[in-house]
Amino acid sequence: MKVLIVGGGGREHALAWKCAQSARVTRVFVAPGNAGTAREPKTVNVAIAADDITALLEFAAREAIDLTIIGPEGPLVAGIVDRFGAAGLRCFGPSRAAARLEGSKAHTKEFLVRHGIPSARHATFTRANFSADYVRAQRLPVVVKADGLAAGKGVVICETHEAALASCLAMLAGDFGAAGETIVVEEFLSGEEVSFIVIAHDQQVLPLATSQDHKRRDDGDRGPNTGGMGAYSPAPIVDAALHARIMREVIEPTLRGLRADGNPYTGFLYAGLMIAPDGTPNVLEFNCRFGDPETQPIMMRLRSDLTRLCEAAIDGELDTVHAQWDEQAALGVVMAAAGYPDAFRKGEPIAGLDAAARLPGKVFHAGTLARGTEIVTNGGRVLCAVGLGVDIVAAQRQAYDLVAAIHWNLVQYRRDIGHRAVARELGGESLTGV
Ligand code: AMP
Repeated sequence: MKVLIVGGGGREHALAWKCAQSARVTRVFVAPGNAGTAREPKTVNVAIAADDITALLEFAAREAIDLTIIGPEGPLVAGIVDRFGAAGLRCFGPSRAAARLEGSKAHTKEFLVRHGIPSARHATFTRANFSADYVRAQRLPVVVKADGLAAGKGVVICETHEAALASCLAMLAGDFGAAGETIVVEEFLSGEEVSFIVIAHDQQVLPLATSQDHKRRDDGDRGPNTGGMGAYSPAPIVDAALHARIMREVIEPTLRGLRADGNPYTGFLYAGLMIAPDGTPNVLEFNCRFGDPETQPIMMRLRSDLTRLCEAAIDGELDTVHAQWDEQAALGVVMAAAGYPDAFRKGEPIAGLDAAARLPGKVFHAGTLARGTEIVTNGGRVLCAVGLGVDIVAAQRQAYDLVAAIHWNLVQYRRDIGHRAVARELGGESLTGV
């Protein structure tokens, strides 16, 4: 069978790598892919942008692609699954209407309240009804979010009321374009963050391995929010009891609510959760696709054929399949260009990739480009080095051995990915996560 992966980041490299391992897959196309996908067996890059739905559709029809898997949210929110479906092509992901769960935070908050799913208290504003008094009356810190897609930058955690008002006004004035025409002002939640990702088809659910990611740029979870600086799986905090609670209080009511609203969901559904000290799984956000970088460690642990799981979902047969997981832990460290998540330089030659390829673990590419015989940086997040091990400590060691083998001018990465899980293990807890 022929598979098309849409996207060009680390998530798509991991999805393509996993699909290529399937004995029934003859070819994996990645549009547009990166220098890492270009090097994988059976895998070919196609020079089509991830948001060029018309060109993707033409390509998939011409090549008679059997299964298309969408990496990023953009094409999903723009309706790629509906367009492929109308052309009789099998495309894994939610419809445009179901993908609104990620496309609009105001819509999602209203959905969560209406269906009784736990999340932070909030208010939604536009320029027409903005209330500075409301913002001033909130406990600090207060969280300000742009309603629409803002490439992971539309969330500001404000320590003062002045900063919160400034963020609100900047968003409403157009700093994030149309994404900020509506804003959500929300209570700050403390606790531990967990990524809970499932494959869903209407009311059928296959939970994937749990994970946690690090969104802040700097060690100690400080500095600006990013797309993600590292992730590991499993999330030790998610024991069997919490897993059952998340399914019961978040995933099942969400899928019921989507059905009740007339938007039944098929695809990866990612719930970003803040686990409160009392164990309440508060929803921070939904994503209508796999996470990046969570995909990389989760794919390292997946033993089953991903194409079969996706096809079972499309066919409404998710309850007939199981996912097999490597019992080992996996941990990925993102190597980024200096300056990320703000302006960064591209075109730096990357040294050490061949040496890293001889070590255990796997280096997934994100912003990379082949230039002659060299591979150069071509994005903010450049690589994700993933290690496997009997516990998070061992996986972390293997990942940082890979990182140590690779270098470019002004590379930046965090030295403490997995620190909470490591502290738990060093405190004597064994690996209990799912
Ligand atoms: P979001 O895109 O809504 O998930 O927000 C990005 C990141 O901001 C989250 O992963 C959290 O780390 C943080 N965040 C968002 N909302 C809140 C909140 N209400 N309380 C605390 N942190 C939050």
